[in-house]
Amino acid sequence: MSDWGEKRFHGRQVFAGLHRRGVQTLDEMTDLPLRLRDQLRPWEPLDLLSKISRRSTSDGTVKILFWLRDGNYIETVRIPEEIHATICLSTQVGCPLDCTFCATGKLGFKRNLTSGEIVDQVVIFQRMTSEPPLRNLVFMGMGEPLLNYDNLVKAIRVFSVSDGLELSQKRMTVSTAGIVPGILKLAEEELTVKMAISLNAPTDTLRNRIMPINRKYPIKEVIMAAILYQKMKGGHITFEYALLPGINDTLEMIKTLREWLIQVPCKLNLIPLNPIGKDRPSRADWDAIMDRFYSVLVRDRIALTLRRSRGAEIKAACGQLAGRMDQSE
Ligand code: SF4
Repeated sequence: MSDWGEKRFHGRQVFAGLHRRGVQTLDEMTDLPLRLRDQLRPWEPLDLLSKISRRSTSDGTVKILFWLRDGNYIETVRIPEEIHATICLSTQVGCPLDCTFCATGKLGFKRNLTSGEIVDQVVIFQRMTSEPPLRNLVFMGMGEPLLNYDNLVKAIRVFSVSDGLELSQKRMTVSTAGIVPGILKLAEEELTVKMAISLNAPTDTLRNRIMPINRKYPIKEVIMAAILYQKMKGGHITFEYALLPGINDTLEMIKTLREWLIQVPCKLNLIPLNPIGKDRPSRADWDAIMDRFYSVLVRDRIALTLRRSRGAEIKAACGQLAGRMDQSE
């Protein structure tokens, strides 16, 4: 607006219209003079994403398949809790990291999302439903957020400014497979987002096998980066640990894991792997597994949670987002 010689507050009106009110057309921006709406016409349609399908589960979890203007697809999931909701966002089309347990990794990497495409996932969900109110954003959908660093940071800022959605950065979590330079760079930003690190294995031998990125950034470097991030930002780091029964949940593995975890204030989030293919590990007795982790970690007061798997029936749970139409859709 300044470039056009207009009052700056018109820029804020457009921003609020797009983000806070989630308008779909310029004509809904009735607070904006008509001449300015006409000047903005080349930017219509305003939505960068189109909803292709919407699937929901009995517990209220909703997954949307979005179509991007270049013909690619992404998926976004809204998970309601009792008094608030969480949206799990995608940051890339596909993912280059190819973790063996992940459906997104199987797609390969197509491209980074723009900051607008990241933000629009939330704007469109907000237009559909505001109950329960949105509180948390987790960058845990398709893609590795720290490999789309600039657009991720821009989106975080857009989400939190007062004329927009005004979401607290403390309620946003960036989940990474352990991109060490990205963790270190994010630690330097004036942002207060939380960090979750998808660890999944306590030894380099095993982690190399299930997360090839470990060959570039081995566990020790990842833990060092986590320690630095925690020192800069306070709070705790969350380590995600997808359970591979009989592989990474043996007593020996848990003891090795403990040696890493005691180095940084953290919590460990155990994730029952969701069935997405024939070669996936079967579901085991999660109570027994939890007991085993507790027996090793309890004296170090490492908080331990078992993530309740939400949305598995619509392939919206961890490791299942694949940005494609199912037969049933
Ligand atoms: S788990 Fe995350 S980092 Fe690994 S392939 Fe899937 S989307 Fe990429």
